[in-house]
Formats: sequence, C-alpha cells, structure tokens
Amino acid sequence: MAGTAVPGRLTRLEWRVARLVETRDETPTARTLVLDVPGWPGHLAGQHVDVRLTAADGYSAQRSYSLAAAPDGDRVELTVQNVPDGEVSPYLTGVFSVGDPVEIRGPVGGWFVWRPDDPAPVTLVAGGAGVAPLMAMVRARRAAGSRVPFRLVYSVRTPDERWYAGELRRPDPGVEVFPLYTRAAPDGWPRPPGRLAKGDLAGWGWPPEFDPACFVCGPTGFVEAAADLLVALGHDPRRIRTERFGPTGG
Ligand SMILES: Cc1cc2nc3c(=O)[nH]c(=O)nc-3n(C[C@H](O)[C@H](O)[C@H](O)COP(=O)(O)OP(=O)(O)OC[C@H]3O[C@@H](n4cnc5c(N)ncnc54)[C@H](O)[C@@H]3O)c2cc1C
Repeated sequence: MAGTAVPGRLTRLEWRVARLVETRDETPTARTLVLDVPGWPGHLAGQHVDVRLTAADGYSAQRSYSLAAAPDGDRVELTVQNVPDGEVSPYLTGVFSVGDPVEIRGPVGGWFVWRPDDPAPVTLVAGGAGVAPLMAMVRARRAAGSRVPFRLVYSVRTPDERWYAGELRRPDPGVEVFPLYTRAAPDGWPRPPGRLAKGDLAGWGWPPEFDPACFVCGPTGFVEAAADLLVALGHDPRRIRTERFGPTGG
C-alpha cells in the first residue's frame, strides 16, 4: 500500500545518532566500524548510508559508505579505507573511538542490491574497497541459508590489502573466492600481477549462458573496465549492476 511505503521512505531520510560499539582492523589502513543505530529500519545487501560529521563550530562534512554486513537488528557495519589527505576517512579510521556518536542516514539505494530470494547465480567483481557491499551480499546469503552459487573475483594491489581475509578464507559452501593481485602476488601465485583482464572473468565468473546476476563495485575506472569486459564476454548489460566509489563530498 502506498500509504505504508511513504513513511518508510521518510524514515530513511532522517539523520540518526549512531554509536561506535566495536572496531576491527582489516588492514593497517582500513577499519571496520560496528555501529549501534537505535531504530534502524533494516537494509538490503548492497545498500549504503550517508555519514555526517559536525565540528564544534557547526561545519559539517558528509560521505557515503556501504553497509558491509547482513541486516542484524540495530547493528550496522561499515569498512572505511583511510584516504591520507581526506577529510572524513582519517577521522573514521583513526580518531573515532568506541562510545563516540556519529550521524547516519539510510539505507540508501535500491538497484545495487541482492535479495536472498533471487535464485540466479551471482558473479561479484570487487576492486579494492568495492568489496564492502559485495561482502554484505556474501554474508546475507549465509545468514539466509541460501544455496545460490556465488563467485567473487576480488582485485587488490597486494595480498596485505585484502579485506575480510580470514572470513573469506574459511570454507563457505557455494561461495568461491578468486583473489587477483595487480602489483605484487604471493610467492608461487599462478597468475602474474596485473589488472583485471577478460580471461580472469571468463575463467572465474559464471558464463553468460548461466544468466548470472553480476555486481561490480570499486573505483570508477575499475568498474567501467570490468563492466565492459563482462559485456565483451557476452553478458546481458541489463544483468550487470554497478556501484562506483568516487569521491562523495557535499
Ligand atoms: C555509494 C558509495 C559507497 C562508498 N562506500 C565506501 C566504503 O564502503 N568504504 C570506503 O572506504 N569508501 C567508500 N566510499 C568512498 C567514500 O564515500 C569517500 O569518498 C572516501 O572515504 C574519501 O572521503 P574523505 O573525506 O576521506 O576524502 P575527501 O576529503 O573527500 O577527498 C580527499 C582526496 O581523496 C580523493 N578521493 C576521495 N575519495 C576517493 C576515493 N573513493 N578513491 C580515490 N580517491 C578519492 C579526493 O579526490 C581528494 O583528492 C563510497 C562512495 C560511494 C559513492
């Protein structure tokens, strides 16, 4: 009923005060923030939030961050990469401490989402921090007990830059993870370091004949290149959903 949908949408536009309850370092420069958000309306894997910081003099800055975990009551998780000359990410990864408040608004976005009742196989293609919303999909699949087969192609510069490394190494039946290194690979790694190529997606993603849902996320250049490769392999562009992690000041 339209009458019930409208209040739900308005709720998502409200700023809420969240509190940091836990942190986990994914790498020396990226940190997962576990937030308690009283009255959180729930979310779908793939959605993001807006985070607003306000200084004592009233100056405020706002950025978008993907929800990295499956829905879990009033708890939400974000993983933030420190951009050294940035305004917001150095605060969130270095200063923001357990017990501190922050304003958040969301969930935002309705297209780049995976729903647990979708039976199609899934190819996830992540570049760097773009793994965050794709990890939410992997976690939502597990939380829902879904048997839909997932393949995650995860491009990072070096092995030390992998997020969620322990969790992605643990067996999760039906989820295959293919790390790809662009600058330096572990000793003996079969694929030489280099950018994502057509052969990587041909070998590790589901073939177009399976009509997979494809989700691609990362820096703008990575997303455009990966989406072009998927189309070149024969994937229907309507089955490719993309999320670009460009700068989000405002
Ligand atoms: C939908 C969406 C979801 C996002 N989810 C995440 C997430 O889960 N985790 C995460 O770490 N980031 C995410 N981002 C990026 C995030 O919103 C910020 O842009 C990032 O944290 C930098 O903010 P900042 O204030 O530290 O830097 P700014 O002060 O905004 O910028 C400082 C400098 O860094 C450059 N810069 C800013 N952002 C980026 C970027 N993303 N890549 C490369 N250079 C950049 C700027 O051009 C500038 O030179 C997301 C962006 C979008 C649009």
